[in-house]
Amino acid sequence: MEPEIGKEIRDIALRLATVMESDHDLLPHLRAPIPVPVLVDALAPAPVREPEPAPVREPEPEPVPAHAPVPAAPGTAQPQPPDLSADVLSLRDVVETCARCTLAGTRTRVVFGEGPVGAKVMFVGEGPGEQEDRTGRPFVGPAGQLLDRMIEAMKLGRGDCYIANVVKCRPPGNATPVPEWTVACAPYLERQIELVRPRVLVALGTPAANFLTGTTLGVVRLRGRLHRRGDIPLVVTYHPAALLRDPGLKRFAWEDLKMVMARLRGV
Ligand code: SF4
Repeated sequence: MEPEIGKEIRDIALRLATVMESDHDLLPHLRAPIPVPVLVDALAPAPVREPEPAPVREPEPEPVPAHAPVPAAPGTAQPQPPDLSADVLSLRDVVETCARCTLAGTRTRVVFGEGPVGAKVMFVGEGPGEQEDRTGRPFVGPAGQLLDRMIEAMKLGRGDCYIANVVKCRPPGNATPVPEWTVACAPYLERQIELVRPRVLVALGTPAANFLTGTTLGVVRLRGRLHRRGDIPLVVTYHPAALLRDPGLKRFAWEDLKMVMARLRGV
């Protein structure tokens, strides 16, 4: 196809040159065969460029109101609201005898949480482990010892911090809390936050981050930026147990803790 088109154009050009007669200098060039690729390029329709797809941006999590209810999973019965006391000690008494979910039947002790009202930082983990279940205190096992070192690295003491969990009783086998337990226990943590009024909240791990941000995103997506729960700044980072399993994550956790320190300095 291309050689025929070239020949046709060359014939037309030769006839034009003959008519014009004066343009002899052009004849050698016109007699020369026209390279096929040049023709193909010239005749080819202009390439149609695909429009660049618009970048897809992940929606930023909305600030979570301080009283945001934890959504119940489909088929999960919403338990009756518990008695939410006016102060932390009374609330502790209520939680110590709680039987709102099945974890009441497998726990040794309720792990309510500990720390001062008006704490500088409130750390929230997902649930008690074996040693916490035995002692009734939060974060006392190997992960708790690492949390202590993280607090020291922030130039704080454990006495400056309030430490609690999303569920107050140990899930069997340290299982990740299921919605039935989280929904049943949610009013206690919400009330704890209201009563403690920390300057900064820190979510340790995905279950705590989901509870406090109201999202279903993982730590990887939520860490590294500031969130808010009501009017309280909220930072998401890795659970100390995850840092023990993968020490390479510690540098990311340290970046998150520096954000907490900056908030405490008012930066
Ligand atoms: S986990 Fe929470 S809701 Fe369930 S029994 Fe323990 S304190 Fe009550």
